[in-house]
Amino acid sequence: MVDRLDREMPEAQIALEFQDDVQLLVSVILSAQSTDARVNMVSPALFARFPDAVAYAAAQPDELWTYIRTLGLFRAKAKSIVGAMRAIVAEHGGRVPRDRVALEALPGVGRKTAGVVLIHLGAGEAFPVDTHVGRVARRLGFTRERDPDRVEERLTRLLPRESWGRGHQLLVWHGRRVCTARNPGCERCVLADLCPRIAVESRRSLREPG
Ligand code: SF4
Repeated sequence: MVDRLDREMPEAQIALEFQDDVQLLVSVILSAQSTDARVNMVSPALFARFPDAVAYAAAQPDELWTYIRTLGLFRAKAKSIVGAMRAIVAEHGGRVPRDRVALEALPGVGRKTAGVVLIHLGAGEAFPVDTHVGRVARRLGFTRERDPDRVEERLTRLLPRESWGRGHQLLVWHGRRVCTARNPGCERCVLADLCPRIAVESRRSLREPG
């Protein structure tokens, strides 16, 4: 299935725009409950004002608000970014750490954020589970779990380690483009002949009379 998705969407890549490790971490924190496109709209001005971890660490969270207030949860995100950058300056020489334990110890950085950062730093394999990955994995019958950590555990047992990062990216794109939450495009899906469509047909029959 992953190979098919890869052939279908070779262009599938992280949509966030960043130039270095600090910008990557900031973008991923900002992307929670926000679209990548919205993050990309605000990040150039934010990155210009705060060029590195030291600049964020010296700021108060409310100094970031004006740059990110169009995003959801902007107060909490500003607090997380400043807190994480202070720890990065104090404990990691101003560089984003490249191992999961150190990443998850940063304020505001959970398992999913750490996984996305690890993949895109080329620092390790991970299979972060966001809303798209979870939904597609359940419809494909890979898991029945709803808890992201348990979905991740299942996916990492099904796929070889070297496919985790790519698998994550492809399921995210497939979930955004085809296997969407409300109206999955099963008619044009490259996985249609393999997919049990768990909980999909019942939703459709409820929606489509006759
Ligand atoms: S066949 Fe339908 S439910 Fe299955 S992966 Fe494709 S779009 Fe999603």
